[in-house]
Amino acid sequence: MFKHPQKKIPVTKPFFPPIEEYQNYLNGIWEREYITNNGPLVQELEVRLNKRLGTQNLVFVSNGTIALQIAIKALDIKGEIITTPFSYVATTSSIVWEGCKPVFVDIDEKTLNINPDLIEEGITENTKAILATHVFGNPCDIEAIKKIADKHDLKVIYDASHCFGVTYRGQSIFNYGDISTTSFHATKLYHTVEGGGIFTNNEQLKERVQYMRNFGHDGPGKYNGIGINGKNSEVHAAMGLCNLNYVERILKSRKQQSLIYDKLFKNNNHIRKQVIFKNTKYNYAYYPVIFENEGLLIETVVNLETKGISPRRYFYPTLTELSYVIGDCPVSARISKKVLCLPLFDDLKYEQQVIITELLNKRYHNASGWSW
Ligand SMILES: *Cc1c(COP(=O)(O)O)cnc(C)c1O
Repeated sequence: MFKHPQKKIPVTKPFFPPIEEYQNYLNGIWEREYITNNGPLVQELEVRLNKRLGTQNLVFVSNGTIALQIAIKALDIKGEIITTPFSYVATTSSIVWEGCKPVFVDIDEKTLNINPDLIEEGITENTKAILATHVFGNPCDIEAIKKIADKHDLKVIYDASHCFGVTYRGQSIFNYGDISTTSFHATKLYHTVEGGGIFTNNEQLKERVQYMRNFGHDGPGKYNGIGINGKNSEVHAAMGLCNLNYVERILKSRKQQSLIYDKLFKNNNHIRKQVIFKNTKYNYAYYPVIFENEGLLIETVVNLETKGISPRRYFYPTLTELSYVIGDCPVSARISKKVLCLPLFDDLKYEQQVIITELLNKRYHNASGWSW
């Protein structure tokens, strides 16, 4: 049935545009002999991405982690930051790296996002900000978070690394919060090999971020505040420009594949799906399934691996387990043991999805029946 059974099916694969299109951009770089330092392709990419996303002030940086670090620095946050334990490690490590203290607030087990009802319990006189992740592209309860932030005079940063193409209430998810950050890493839905973005609707803050990504340089011999090297290059921007021509197709295939998984899992009551927040246009960036227990997940992973299929336990372990933090979030601890992201990438075939779903749909002795 499936032609290359010996070939691995990964959880995700970087998208590769036609090589000639990339080569064309390289020719231009060679002609101009301009390869980094806010070159013409970086500027073109920023303009085109803003247009595609409906944003105004994208600052293209070298990766999604430096985007988070610059966001914390640019907002001048020093102290405690309320954050989620269910995210990629960079969300937490960036807080600690910037000399701030992460205060973990547990997640909602349906949306997998920070539970706004628990945020106020975590606020102390040292709390300066909320840094929340829109997990797997699912928007946080933005209005509830804004209300709490306004009441306690806190900044809001969203780690929107999974959110390319997501809209909330009809506009880009990147337009919410004081700053939103994203990642354009090769494993993400839209990528520039390595890369990241910082979004803010505040012009002054945008300028600050631009100085910060370039050592604070204000001309050759003058500095405007402290900076770091967060620049990205012409060769990365070129990949971004190529991929931008394919991103609508990628979004469409992700959606189709997700709907096929849904259909093939229709009668499976041992797995649950993340509940997508209201008023959202979702991007189908990932296909996470939540098992009824960890035993069933482990058994399934072993069975998938023997067929050459590599799912990924995003996000495991829960971030309160990191050696350099403290926190206790039982819901995240429980959920992170039971979530598995299934393969989803542009050229994933229907036959491959059938093989994957059959392995999940067969009867397992670890199964008893799901309950939230
Ligand atoms: C990928 C990712 C990051 C880090 O982005 P990089 O570009 O790899 O540095 C941060 N947060 C989340 C939630 C991510 O998924």
